[in-house]
Amino acid sequence: MGFFREWRRRRTLRSARLDEALWKQVAAKLSFLRGLSEEDTARLKDLVVLFLAEKEMHGAHGLALTDEARLSIATQACLPILNLGLDVYDSWVGVIVYPGEFRVHKEEVDEAGVVHIFAEELAGEAWPGGPVILSWEDVDMAERGYNVVIHEFAHKIHMDGAGDADFPAARDGMDAAKWRKTLEDAYDRFCAQVDSGEPTFIDPYAAEHPAEFFAVMSEAFFTESAVLARDWPELYAQLALFYKQDPARSV
Ligand SMILES: [Zn+2]
Repeated sequence: MGFFREWRRRRTLRSARLDEALWKQVAAKLSFLRGLSEEDTARLKDLVVLFLAEKEMHGAHGLALTDEARLSIATQACLPILNLGLDVYDSWVGVIVYPGEFRVHKEEVDEAGVVHIFAEELAGEAWPGGPVILSWEDVDMAERGYNVVIHEFAHKIHMDGAGDADFPAARDGMDAAKWRKTLEDAYDRFCAQVDSGEPTFIDPYAAEHPAEFFAVMSEAFFTESAVLARDWPELYAQLALFYKQDPARSV
């Protein structure tokens, strides 16, 4: 991290404070934060202050973002990078929030080379190097196992870091082959479960694509850590190394 940036961040942390009453209000709705130690909570708050200072968040389609909404989104965006640092989010600045699901036009080329143009309703979207787009209605209905903010920011961590279209690369110090094989095996097992019609605790949407699997499993890692550690222990262990956190330990 450059000297100037470090200096600016220290100055921001000295001069800005989170509104404690508002923090309590936001944290009360994010039950998965309860497992954090006091020290981790303090570091998360500092990260949130810096996130709010360095990123831009805008409401779209007439949505007026309240301070509570900003704080809630920033907090959920910062949880996955608590031990990775804000520099992971370096390549972009914007978060755009729509009141509800938003319609996007997509183009897909099928195996026969035919281009299909269609519209899709989305709860969130992330662009490489670009903004994160969220539906406030979906952010607000965050519950254990479903968290659109963590989902989209997991995509950001994946697409703006090293790796391929399927999965992010292992971090330094990780066994890269083990990381990859664990993700691939878990994805195959999950798709087989979905194909067999077996009810899955994890959202079946995760079977759409390996990158979606990573994002959905990241949601579960942070918001249903004990269940993930129980049902998918190898995957949980690898995600713990990737995110440098062990949320199930404190549940
Ligand atoms: Zn996704």
